[in-house]
Amino acid sequence: MTATNTRVVLARRPVGEATPDCFSVETEELAELEPDQIRVAVHYISVDAGTRTMLRGEGFHQQVGLGQTILAGGVGVVLASNHDAFQVGDAVRGGLGAQTVATVGPKDIAKVDDSTAPLSAHLGILGHSTGVTSWIGVRCVAKPQPGEVFVVSAAAGAVGSIAGQIAKRDGAQVIGIAGGPTKAAYLIDTLGFDGAIDYKNEDVSERLKELAPNGLDIFYDNVGGPILDAALENLALHARVIICGAISQYDDMDNVTGPSLYLSLAKSQAVMEGFAYFHFPEMIKPALAELTQWVEDGSIVMSEEILEGIERYPEALQFMFNGGNTGKLMVKAA
Ligand code: NAP
Repeated sequence: MTATNTRVVLARRPVGEATPDCFSVETEELAELEPDQIRVAVHYISVDAGTRTMLRGEGFHQQVGLGQTILAGGVGVVLASNHDAFQVGDAVRGGLGAQTVATVGPKDIAKVDDSTAPLSAHLGILGHSTGVTSWIGVRCVAKPQPGEVFVVSAAAGAVGSIAGQIAKRDGAQVIGIAGGPTKAAYLIDTLGFDGAIDYKNEDVSERLKELAPNGLDIFYDNVGGPILDAALENLALHARVIICGAISQYDDMDNVTGPSLYLSLAKSQAVMEGFAYFHFPEMIKPALAELTQWVEDGSIVMSEEILEGIERYPEALQFMFNGGNTGKLMVKAA
């Protein structure tokens, strides 16, 4: 049995960008397993934008204390078990944390079927904070109708790339906003979107006017800030603005820049609605059933970007906030 665990802990609370010096990587001896505990070899750790909001010490999400292991979803394989529901060799997913070996209780993990999709896919396309979030945001909140214009930000990222593909399947005209020409080309050539805007090199509002002259029916926002305002400037009558996230604001949550053009909601008789996937627990099963079907028939694209080695987790978080990743970003723990 593995005798040590290497974990990423919060060394100091970030001010602004969460740079790698905010974290330290420590190796500890593993204690004997207690009754009901399960020991899991962590294979992949999910890197999520929302993790930045857990490092502040207060807020909407669960918080990480100084010296504590960074909270993160993960997938792995059971190494040892003192609980009847889990056997050595079971593939599992859950809140495993940014570490190589997790010691957890039975409620912290669930078995996954790694014969239908590789283990990493259970964090990406089949992960709760990724594919399931996209599915719930599109199907339960945005509800695009055939022919509607659906615009998504952080469109080349994990949640955005799947949300756009689901809206496309549902008959919408999909336009993605992402940073840089390579990502803009990926949206069209790989994901099959109808339009792409490179927000780093193009005027988003002007491009939206060109690509959607009758306005946006749905804006599925992952970014916030100036991109949200550019969308608000271009709403169609009865538009829906869906707040999935606002990564541009997470580095300074005490000074969130709100949308200055919110009066466009009145002009367009539009609504703005936020959501979190965990408010739809009854939809996780149907979401997973349909996403699994698409994985099996190969009709959905889910790019994965994997950094190797637990010590690269701090770098990975910074990489995401600098727009490095295309698709789902993960760290391969060992
Ligand atoms: P992701 O989209 O895979 O990665 C984040 C992407 O955001 C980066 O690759 C970068 O792409 C873009 N970005 C970063 N800083 C930006 C900035 N200042 N302005 C514009 N774009 C920026 O990350 P994810 O984990 O899938 O999360 C996407 C969003 O979904 C986040 O807002 C997250 O909080 C939200 N989320 C919500 C829920 C929910 O239940 N509501 C659940 C999970 C995630 P570019 O190269 O294009 O800049």
